[in-house]
Amino acid sequence: MTDRLSRRNVLKATASTLALPIVMSGSASAFSDGDRVEPTTGLNTRHRPGTESEVVGTMYPGDVGEIMNGPTDEDGYTWWGVHWLDDDIWGWSAGQYLTPAGGGGGGADFTWPISGYITSPYGARPGHYAVDFGNNGQIGTPIYAARDGVVDIRSYESGGCGNYLKLGHENGYQTLYCHLNSFDVSQGESVSRGQQIGGMGDTGNSTGPHLHFTIEQNQTHLSIPGSDGQNVTAGNEIPKDYSGI
Ligand SMILES: [Zn+2]
Repeated sequence: MTDRLSRRNVLKATASTLALPIVMSGSASAFSDGDRVEPTTGLNTRHRPGTESEVVGTMYPGDVGEIMNGPTDEDGYTWWGVHWLDDDIWGWSAGQYLTPAGGGGGGADFTWPISGYITSPYGARPGHYAVDFGNNGQIGTPIYAARDGVVDIRSYESGGCGNYLKLGHENGYQTLYCHLNSFDVSQGESVSRGQQIGGMGDTGNSTGPHLHFTIEQNQTHLSIPGSDGQNVTAGNEIPKDYSGI
């Protein structure tokens, strides 16, 4: 067993331990001073609680912070004071986008690339070795990188994927994002897990706005778990271990 794999198992164990005392109320989590947290998506940290306050930094899943203050309700959100440890940034973040560190995808192999629901599970249609996601037909729904990587391909394919991105990850893994309406990254660019890379669209061979998503290793499609109609949240872990990560 590699050190990397061992570390991941430790992270997962920590996450399940930390999750026990967390009280979920609606979409907001309750935290205590000293709790380690991470964002579930690209998340602005602000100078003071409130959506009008100056943004002092944008954090991504995998960035770890420590709860230092809060909660405070402002502008419809519950705000927590967080010290983001790697960047040594101090600010206030909306609690509904915070999760205990090591959960919510921080230690995951891959995380869901969209908030929406599964419209076609992996392998449900002959030859469709991918998962399709929808979000009520909303063109432009943000699409996020499922893991840290590099933009291997940003291109257009009229009869198939339409506007698409292919990201390269360590150990021969690639993820593919098809039918995009817009791009937020360029070919060759490095991306972080949870970084917005494009918007959902209906380009190419598509019967309506959706995201077609695959995970490959060395050009072989790999199974992605999930059932028809299942809701998914961007940045949360795809519950499967992929070998060699
Ligand atoms: Zn598809």
